[in-house]
Amino acid sequence: LTRLYAPLTSLAGARVEVMSALVSFERVFEVLDLKPLIEEKPDAREVPPGPVSVEFEDVRFGYPSADKVSLASLEEVASLDSRGGAEVLHGVSFRAEPGQTIALVGSSGAGKSTVAQLLPRLYDVDAGAVRIGGVDVRDLSAGSLRATLGMVTQDGHLFHDSVRANLLLARPGATEDDLWDALRRSRLDDLVRSLPDGLDTVVGERGYRLSGGERQRMTIARLLLARQRVVILDEATAHLDNTSEAAVQEALAEALAERTAVVIAHRLSTVRAADLILVVESGRVVERGTHDELLATGGRYAELHRTQFDQPGMTQTAAR
Ligand code: ADP
Ligand code: MG
Repeated sequence: LTRLYAPLTSLAGARVEVMSALVSFERVFEVLDLKPLIEEKPDAREVPPGPVSVEFEDVRFGYPSADKVSLASLEEVASLDSRGGAEVLHGVSFRAEPGQTIALVGSSGAGKSTVAQLLPRLYDVDAGAVRIGGVDVRDLSAGSLRATLGMVTQDGHLFHDSVRANLLLARPGATEDDLWDALRRSRLDDLVRSLPDGLDTVVGERGYRLSGGERQRMTIARLLLARQRVVILDEATAHLDNTSEAAVQEALAEALAERTAVVIAHRLSTVRAADLILVVESGRVVERGTHDELLATGGRYAELHRTQFDQPGMTQTAAR
């Protein structure tokens, strides 16, 4: 038993390490300041200037085995082989032309967030390639990748600091006018004006507590300020309340207009506007097309549309 136990404990330990690394990474990630976990090459390149394409070519990927270990399931640990975890993406291909928005839809666990995580090199692919502006992300410098790519996730993390500081993280040189403009467009201006110290009010866990919807609008304000040419939104509007939704969708559409975007969405309005919709099921793209094309096809998207998107005031419970 001892012999069996030792490797289990060390794998379990690895999981804890990986988890805390991901948590702290996510905090940086949230403010569009990406920090790839994987080392850059000595001769790393820059993303070409101007609007860029985003491309997945036959991407296969499985999470590294230590990261797959669930502390709740020791049988799962014992069943892991030395080659790593099970494959999660089984040959995913798509291309977003410069300035386009691609929407990923599909049930929970399909692999949408995994696709999102390969762009900033949170992980590297096992086969195939991920390219930004035609360059394999593995050949890009960390600085260039960070300057090009932003990600907004569901939780809208705020630092324990002032509203101003939280916004300036997205664009350090922003003027007071820039900040208010972003707040107005994300319908947060009234709220911030009503706070005890306005822009200088400290927010976050131990400061003034914003609601889930307010945090998401704050993330959209950051997105409006940020300069990244490629953005990934992973269920970034899941907590928006219906009253602010139309206005915020408009702000979001504005923010996405001049960028290349990969949007994982639970809301029909976001999906409908996409240039291309990919339906992801069990790590594969099973359907692709525009909203109208996919509805006409009457397949999986049409079904999702009926069961998931087509409810009034749809606020599907957050699924990761
Ligand atoms: P979606 O975003 O579509 O809900 P995910 O990409 O999060 O799906 O998950 C796809 C599959 O990968 C699921 O089977 C999930 O359990 C697994 N998975 C997700 N994240 C990890 C991780 N960090 N380690 C191991 N497996 C993971
Ligand atoms: Mg997800």
